[in-house]
Amino acid sequence: MALMAGVIHRLDETVVNRIAAGEVIQRPANAIKEMVENCLDAKASSIQVTIKDGGLKLIQIQDNGCGIRKEDMDIVCERFTTSKLQTFEDLASISTYGFRGEALASISHVAHVTITTKTADGKCAYRASYSDGKLKTPPKPCAGNQGTQITVEDLFYNVTTRRKALKNPSEEYAKILEVVSRYAIHNSGISFSVKKQGDTLADVRTLSNASAVDNIRSIFGNAVSRELIEVSCEDVALAFTMKGYITNANYSVKKCTFLLFINHRLVESSALRKAIETVYAAYLPKNTHPFLYISLEIAPQNVDVNVHPTKHEVHFLHEDSILERVQQHIESKLLGSNSSRMYFTQTLLPCVTASSTDVVKSASSSSNQGTGDKVYAHRMVRTDSRDQKLDAFLQPANKSKTSGFAAVAPEDSSTNQSCKNTGPQDAEMKDCSDLETALESPENSKESKLMSPEALPARKRLRTDCDVEMEEHARQEMTAACTPRRRIINLTSVLTLQEEIGNRAHASLQEMLRDHSFVGCVNPQWALVQYQTKLYLVNTTKLSQEMFYQILIYDFGNFGVLRLSEPAPLYDLAMLALENAESGWTEEDGPKEGLAEYIVQFLTKKSEMLKDYFSLEIDENGNLSGLPLLIDNYVPPLEGLPMFILRLATEVNWDEEKECFESLSREYAMFYSIRKQYIMEESDLTAQQAEEAEAETRSWKWAVEHVLYKAFRTSLLPPKNFREDGNILQLANLPDLYKVFERC
Ligand code: ADP
Ligand code: MG
Repeated sequence: MALMAGVIHRLDETVVNRIAAGEVIQRPANAIKEMVENCLDAKASSIQVTIKDGGLKLIQIQDNGCGIRKEDMDIVCERFTTSKLQTFEDLASISTYGFRGEALASISHVAHVTITTKTADGKCAYRASYSDGKLKTPPKPCAGNQGTQITVEDLFYNVTTRRKALKNPSEEYAKILEVVSRYAIHNSGISFSVKKQGDTLADVRTLSNASAVDNIRSIFGNAVSRELIEVSCEDVALAFTMKGYITNANYSVKKCTFLLFINHRLVESSALRKAIETVYAAYLPKNTHPFLYISLEIAPQNVDVNVHPTKHEVHFLHEDSILERVQQHIESKLLGSNSSRMYFTQTLLPCVTASSTDVVKSASSSSNQGTGDKVYAHRMVRTDSRDQKLDAFLQPANKSKTSGFAAVAPEDSSTNQSCKNTGPQDAEMKDCSDLETALESPENSKESKLMSPEALPARKRLRTDCDVEMEEHARQEMTAACTPRRRIINLTSVLTLQEEIGNRAHASLQEMLRDHSFVGCVNPQWALVQYQTKLYLVNTTKLSQEMFYQILIYDFGNFGVLRLSEPAPLYDLAMLALENAESGWTEEDGPKEGLAEYIVQFLTKKSEMLKDYFSLEIDENGNLSGLPLLIDNYVPPLEGLPMFILRLATEVNWDEEKECFESLSREYAMFYSIRKQYIMEESDLTAQQAEEAEAETRSWKWAVEHVLYKAFRTSLLPPKNFREDGNILQLANLPDLYKVFERC
């Protein structure tokens, strides 16, 4: 068969245009980028994108910009029509996105385009549709607001190969979200939204009053936004400025997110990306990457934007010098953030996640942020706060004679009184007819003491959980909380104090205390706990003091009694206190005996109230016989008892009801809190004393871990100030440790 020569003929113009269009518009996201840039060129302050089938069925972009004049409507979709550039020389000083007049023309060659637009001085809006760059129907007047709405339907309807290549609408939609959200971050001050047709919720939405960081937060999440460092530098010689936000060395993910704008155009530059990642390599764990948003402005005459039809790849003069300068600046910023990191993490709170108040679904954030990634070793939480140690069930044998956690001064006879937890059978119901209190339903069940959970402050609900837990661990003996019937306290003063505790509470700290794992005691005052990947030094004294105060206020009038096996004479206690230098007693105060006598009389007068509300029992002979049982298995350090008695008489404001309850509770709390141990010189100890001291140590350690820290989980609403005043101090964070060791 003879070989026939192919006939060369000129391609049909529409075919040429269609091929050219395919070069510019390769996928829906390209079309959207072009159209969003047009909206920005038109000075719009609101840009709304609606998508169907990943943009293959429908793309609709509505803006409130300057609009298109009616007389231009018939040529806007022709190739090389633009309102932005007239001469080739203009290209050198181009400040708008568009300049080739190619985008709309291209789109109209591969899709059905309809434009509805109204200018500020136009009497009405006009609508026209286009095909292959030409007006299909002349502009028709219609109603409409100022701005432009462009509808692109059935993209690539006439390019079968392209349509086949774009089979996955959700992939296209993700790409669209990526492009628009990046423009949204770069153009804070302009509100953007992207949603699927028919959806009410937007998948990306930014507000016109939001900052770039706000937008990063709403799009990429708080994990990124809270670790951002601002970058900003200028180099006059190289005629460029850089601005943006990059993550510090605390943040690292599997995949680099790089938002790069050069002269406000979203571009990619692998050279710049590599240059920046080289800097980060010294700071981040291996194979992890930062988040980068960088905006470069380079003198227009130094940038060649006309490189690729999609205008994606941008080249510029002095590229190497500029890259070097950028590297230097980023390095200095990372170093700065590195040296301040210790301070930063110490004030950082456990797991502070900003709850997005916005209705935005974070569709793009999940793809970019890598949530659902596998957990890396340096972020892995290896503890479970629900773990229980066996020794939790093995209470030290000498507990009943543990009069506090300190060695008791030998002359302090009264404090050698052993205490026995007489339990709730002693917490008999008080007659409360003279009080503004009311009785609850009389069933004797655990539930009955609880008021309806809804009516209770958060802390009360927590205690409900606590009680449930106690039922589970049936090991618990009768508890203070098991008072057969609970009085409801309606005293405004007490309710106000309760409210104040609630208002001071810090949610993240509470979460940390609830889910912590106990590591160990440093001494009676300090202990270490772990929460997630962080290690904290916690002031047990201060936390226990605050907890006892809160228990006194919340369980006001509902305590069991810790009964002293032998009543302690108040007079002796007062004398002991006055003999202690801490009391500040001087000659001018008069003889101690007289003062002690006065204290006994004074407290005896108050004994009815003290017994009724605070379970402090004073018998008719002026002996102290009972103390409130605030938490189970805990006896306050009794060497503090004399001072407590003295302070009750001298430091409490007995005149105002609220102040009285508050200061009384503060005094109790100070007395009950665990404090530093009076350690005797080891050399002074006899073998027996040494043994006793060791038993003491075992005993307070057990109480700290299994009584106090257990109670902190459920019975303490940590006040905000604990994070600033060093009572809860972050010592280490696993990811940071990994960084330290990697560099070794
Ligand atoms: P270019 O942006 O390169 O000028 P385009 O094809 O993107 O070319 O747009 C052609 C012209 O249509 C623009 O120059 C502009 O005058 C007009 N135009 C396009 N979109 C809008 C819009 N959203 N608002 C106002 N004018 C627009
Ligand atoms: Mg354009």
